[in-house]
Amino acid sequence: MTVKSKADTLKERQDRRFINKETQTAAKYLRRLEELSNAPDGIEQFYQVLKNIYVEMGHTETGNQKTVGTYCVMTPPELIYAAGAVPVKLCSGNYTAFSVGDSVAPRDACPLVKAVAGFKQTGLMPVYEDCSMMIVPITCDCKKKIAGMLSENCNVTTLHIPASRNDEDIEEFTEQLYQLMEKLEKATGSRITFESLSEGFRKVGYAQYELSEFIRLKKQIPYLIRGSHAMAIMNAAAYMPADMWGKALHKVNAALRKNIAENKTVTTKKLPRILLTGSPIVFPNIKIPLLIEETGGIVAADETCMGERGMWDPAVITDYSFDGMIRALANRAVRPCPCPTFADNSQRIYRLKQLIEENQIQGVIYHVLRGCLVYDFEYRRIEDELGKLGIPVIRLESDYNEEDIEQLRIRIEAFIELIKLKQTPEKRTTVRRDF
Ligand code: SF4
Ligand code: SF4
Repeated sequence: MTVKSKADTLKERQDRRFINKETQTAAKYLRRLEELSNAPDGIEQFYQVLKNIYVEMGHTETGNQKTVGTYCVMTPPELIYAAGAVPVKLCSGNYTAFSVGDSVAPRDACPLVKAVAGFKQTGLMPVYEDCSMMIVPITCDCKKKIAGMLSENCNVTTLHIPASRNDEDIEEFTEQLYQLMEKLEKATGSRITFESLSEGFRKVGYAQYELSEFIRLKKQIPYLIRGSHAMAIMNAAAYMPADMWGKALHKVNAALRKNIAENKTVTTKKLPRILLTGSPIVFPNIKIPLLIEETGGIVAADETCMGERGMWDPAVITDYSFDGMIRALANRAVRPCPCPTFADNSQRIYRLKQLIEENQIQGVIYHVLRGCLVYDFEYRRIEDELGKLGIPVIRLESDYNEEDIEQLRIRIEAFIELIKLKQTPEKRTTVRRDF
């Protein structure tokens, strides 16, 4: 055997090991989701999408359309649809890719970025390999460095995210969206017109409309759906065209309305209502929501990027011209975004208080991915603000391995017990309306 063929065999063996481990882990987390009782009818389509991407290592269903990878919710999907392509969110929660990335990225880089680096290193994940272009908004140092790494073998464009949100910042971001438009047109070969941009708004708007109904139903007490199931639905949105996702969610919404009519709820028990916030929770790294619900709580709301944050806020067009639409996208991406990457985090505090009030939250779990400084920095301020409202909050630091599961379980269990002792479930949280 020649040296070259020996090396090929070694690479093949490594690839096979990677695929086996990656697919087994994803299958295990899908099974745990399926084992959680009382999932709504219609959720199977979302499980199937996650299975297709992570267990079968398939492609996104885009017909003949090209895909454009994105790495942050601040990338406007409307613009990508307008260029005749389908956006795919590529932030990763993959444990196996993380362990590969751990050897190529610096020790203190966050696990999300290490997992992306791992997929780049192996070249084995079709959703990454299929992209005609990748858009990386520069929201932290990790994103900046990963943009450089990805551009070694992919067409990468970056978006500079301003530190503040004043009019000049929005003006500058609008200018960047015009530049992005030209790059998208070049990558897809399709011109962005008034009509195609309107169609992009329609597609995303339909998904947002169904999401708003889903959020309304999700708030009902007794609960109609568990937060872990809701997060699986939201995570699947990363790999489905918006109108396909909206149609699938329409079926879930119909099933939930039927359950109301038939008095069917997830449980009749009054479970402690938890708000989950902090660093992104990306499938298959869903150990924290699963642990919350397996230890007797319910994720009543989430304020995370792969959860409701990604689509909850529609762009508002006040001027129905092409420029008006681009400005609406720039405003929506930057002004209300509760990401802690901005210097001023009052939007974040506002949004958390809003979710606490609307969902009658009794405790907040603040998730920090090890190395994610932007979220970690904010913890103290949020703890202080929530302390003023009498809402208990716990900070859970974790990464993409399973070794800390028992330790996380003990802390989550203790937190849930504390809430049970502290507040009767009937007691409604009162939030001061001075935000
Ligand atoms: S956490 Fe912030 S930077 Fe990261 S994807 Fe979400 S919005 Fe973007
Ligand atoms: S915001 Fe946090 S999780 Fe996201 S890439 Fe930056 S360091 Fe990683």
